[in-house]
Amino acid sequence: MDDFLHQCRQTIGAQFVLTEVKDRESYETEWRKRFRGRALAVVRPGSTAEVLALVQLCNQFKISIVPQGGNTGLVLGSVPDDSGRSIILSLTRLNTTRQIDTANNTITVEAGCTLFDVQQYADHHERLFPLSLASEGTCTIGGNLSSNAGGTAVLRYGNTRELCLGLEVVTADGELLNGLKGLRKDNTGYSLRDIYIGAEGTLGIITAAVLKLYPKPKATKTAFVALSSPAAALDLLNLARDNVGASLTTFELVSSICLELVHKHFPTLPRPFPSASAYYVLLEISDQESEEHAQRIMEQSLDAALTQAIADDAVIATSMAQAKQLWQLRENISMAQALEGKNIKHDISLPSSCIPAFIKTTGRQLETAFPSARVVCFGHMGDGNLHYNISPPIGVDDTSFLQLQAAVNQLVHDAVHSYQGSISAEHGIGALKREELTRYKSAVELSLMRKIKKALDPNNLMNPGKII
Ligand code: FAD
Repeated sequence: MDDFLHQCRQTIGAQFVLTEVKDRESYETEWRKRFRGRALAVVRPGSTAEVLALVQLCNQFKISIVPQGGNTGLVLGSVPDDSGRSIILSLTRLNTTRQIDTANNTITVEAGCTLFDVQQYADHHERLFPLSLASEGTCTIGGNLSSNAGGTAVLRYGNTRELCLGLEVVTADGELLNGLKGLRKDNTGYSLRDIYIGAEGTLGIITAAVLKLYPKPKATKTAFVALSSPAAALDLLNLARDNVGASLTTFELVSSICLELVHKHFPTLPRPFPSASAYYVLLEISDQESEEHAQRIMEQSLDAALTQAIADDAVIATSMAQAKQLWQLRENISMAQALEGKNIKHDISLPSSCIPAFIKTTGRQLETAFPSARVVCFGHMGDGNLHYNISPPIGVDDTSFLQLQAAVNQLVHDAVHSYQGSISAEHGIGALKREELTRYKSAVELSLMRKIKKALDPNNLMNPGKII
């Protein structure tokens, strides 16, 4: 080990090889602070060439590698186990924007750039990079690609996979795959890019990417809508799709308990309506024409929803500040739930047409099996993705409730599976859902995944114990 660490120091500089416990701590601890692994060292290369040299060293010494970006992943993918045998390879020093091509609407960035910095850089060049997550100040492009992150604009622009045209990757056996092409069409065999996207660092290390940019919208309109049920929310989704077409950017479902928790823990945030409803939707459109056009199509859609008794009430933000406050009602749900205590989280997706039936039947099953457990349901309903979190009954100690986690997960995930849904819509599998994956993927799917892993990472050095 000493020889390995010595060569790492020679390769990237001693100050970038962290072996002291206190220096490793933040890298070894996952976002929610529920788990801390132990790494042999944290290495922080500053260029693709240094990543390449480190991976070659790891192959020589048979040291496994846990790639890490912003460490905001929620499935224990970016932290090692507690064996102390893996290194954490942090990409955050690879944070240069290599090129922007506004005529081709593309930007080439290194993997350690934060999502926020890429959004800002695009904005300064009058372009939009549309990926948007609450963790955007910290999460990195490499992490977004490796987890195929979703977020609040998937409805219009797709997941991170759809926003990527090319990748530069250091392969598991220490070769450089240069695929930094800004092509929107390229049918030349297997899509190697797509194999590395969503692989959660189990197949290689993404060091740079060519991303798609879009024209900045001329106007954005944000509304908050009160409704009686998920069925009404589905009707509103389809009405909005018919009325505003591709301009529909965001469609977020919020159940009443979410808003109660937000107001309890963030009491300064305004209440959008005088009385409570069972459900709400945060709806946003981005318009390529004008402010007037955006206002008109938003008003027409909401008028139609009120007239057809789909919506109970609706408010359209009249300023950027008001739009921001409506967004805060949505974005503070996770934090409000965390302040309330520990809970059992599910990041699921379903065909949006099945969401009302899923919420109804699964809610009943939970009530029977775990009486008075609180279902905190919200999320990106426009693309079928719900965060379906279960908090303990009021007065029940959350630590003892968490002991039911496996049974709660099985009930929820079996229900998801029965609707042909997915047990991980946007957060990935990591170590957290690895066992469950085997319950819901077919034998053929699992076998193909294992064959890919073995072919691309024959020494099992890349993020062992994650996904499969
Ligand atoms: P990390 O957490 O560091 O890593 C994630 C995975 O990718 C790990 O398996 C890691 O090994 C691997 N990895 C990281 N960098 C590389 C690389 N360069 N090459 C190869 N593998 C790599 N996710 C969503 O999809 N949608 C949301 O709306 C969303 N909201 C969130 C809100 C909050 C408050 C938080 C804390 C998280 C949220 N997330 C969301 C989850 C998380 O932010 C995303 O998964 C994000 O894409 C992770 O990026 P990261 O840089 O932090 O990656």
